[in-house]
Amino acid sequence: MPEPKTVLAFMAHPDDVEFLCAGTLARLKKEAGCKIAIATATSGDCGSAELRPEQIARIRHKEALAAAKILDADYYCAGCMDLQIFNDRGTFMRFVEVLRKARADVVITAAPVDYMIDHEQTSLIVRAATFAAPIPNVPTEDVDPAEILPGVPHLFYADPLEGKDHFGRQIEPDFVVDITSVIETKERMLACHDSQRAWLRSHHGMDQYIISMKEWSAERGKLIGKPYGEAFRQHRGHAYPSDNVILKLLGEG
Ligand SMILES: [Zn+2]
Repeated sequence: MPEPKTVLAFMAHPDDVEFLCAGTLARLKKEAGCKIAIATATSGDCGSAELRPEQIARIRHKEALAAAKILDADYYCAGCMDLQIFNDRGTFMRFVEVLRKARADVVITAAPVDYMIDHEQTSLIVRAATFAAPIPNVPTEDVDPAEILPGVPHLFYADPLEGKDHFGRQIEPDFVVDITSVIETKERMLACHDSQRAWLRSHHGMDQYIISMKEWSAERGKLIGKPYGEAFRQHRGHAYPSDNVILKLLGEG
């Protein structure tokens, strides 16, 4: 079994982590002793039909903190706004700084092709930041910059929404983690995002926040013959470690 790692899940919005990879994080903490960190690009300022951006952002920041606390995880927000995640200099530097502050050995981010641009941009900038975080000549202009990372972290991509790209084509995962033993933890984490149940009801006509998470987890579980699962692909391009450290940490690889 490898040494415990620090695993950073870095997604676009508060609640993305809870939908897509919280079960895997819970198992990595419980079974492999990993330190968990959660980061989001935004505070979810568009996630309300009634509240002003700064009001809902404050609420959602607190909800994200509460969810992270369940895994004893540090929570970081990279300070972007919903629908305005751009691959610009300042955003890139803030993403690099989050990776360095979290001391990430393993990073899970959004799918490179997904139903919305925020997810794709976050995926792209996280990819760029993982490559840059160990490079000494990449400063971040943070008031208290963290040390560079010792190496390029392992990088994994979670599912796009409904497992489809934006052409509606199914995305085949590389592997599925059985999260049956921690589905209740995942549910508790998602339930911290209380404001979103109401928001999804008004925007999508959907009142099934928790149920839809469980349905999708059950869908992925089917691929491995288990009640619940979470699916991933691994970034294996040049300079990235290509061994499946997630399965190794869970004693399954
Ligand atoms: Zn999202």
